[in-house]
This record gives sequence, C-alpha cells and structure tokens, in this order.
Amino acid sequence: MFELKIVADFAAAHQLKMVAKKCENLHGHNWKIEACVAGERLNDAGVLVDFGEIKAHLSDIMSTLDHKFLNELDFFKDGNPSSENIARFVAKSLQKKINGTAVKVTRVTAWESDSACATYIC
Ligand SMILES: [Zn+2]
Repeated sequence: MFELKIVADFAAAHQLKMVAKKCENLHGHNWKIEACVAGERLNDAGVLVDFGEIKAHLSDIMSTLDHKFLNELDFFKDGNPSSENIARFVAKSLQKKINGTAVKVTRVTAWESDSACATYIC
C-alpha cells in the first residue's frame, strides 16, 4: 500500500459553542491541513496518482473555507466548526472529488496551531 500526503492551509474565523469559555469568543486560526490518500497500484509512470491532481482538489476545498466565518457555512450548521469537524469535512469533500479513481482518502489532519491538531480517519 502506498500513501501520499498533501499539505494545504487556510485562514478563517470560528466560534465554538458549549466548549471552554475562551473558544466561545469569535477568533481565528491559520489552519494547516494534511490530507492522505492511499492505493495499492502504481501507474505506468510509477506513481500512485499525480500530486498535482490531489493538490488541485484540495485547493478547491480550501477556497470554500479561506477567509470565511466558518459558523455561517452550510456544512457546519449542524455542528461546531471544530478542527475535528473541519478534518471530517475536508476528508468527505476530497473523497467525493476522487471517487472513481484508484486511490481513496485515508485520513485528514487539521492543525489549528503548532501544537494542536485533530485527525479524521476514514
Ligand atoms: Zn478555535
């Protein structure tokens, strides 16, 4: 099995309800996203999938989040835009974009600071 990792980032604001008091105030992060895809077979060029293809998909997804107030986005209306839910959103969105290819999303990690991250494992 081969696994590729692509890294991207976005800056956005959020407000977490029902958590620690500090997080209930409107604030922002520069999130760093690591997305992993995996598959078993390499193509004739000896690669699993073109990095550029995954980067382009991830970049599309980042543009839906970048410089937004995440609480106002449709997909977070039923849940806090926590790093956990952001990781899951990115994983599901990326999987939709690569459906039908030889690879699948295995995990997505959302770093909200240098020392804290959440990973969604597919
Ligand atoms: Zn936060």
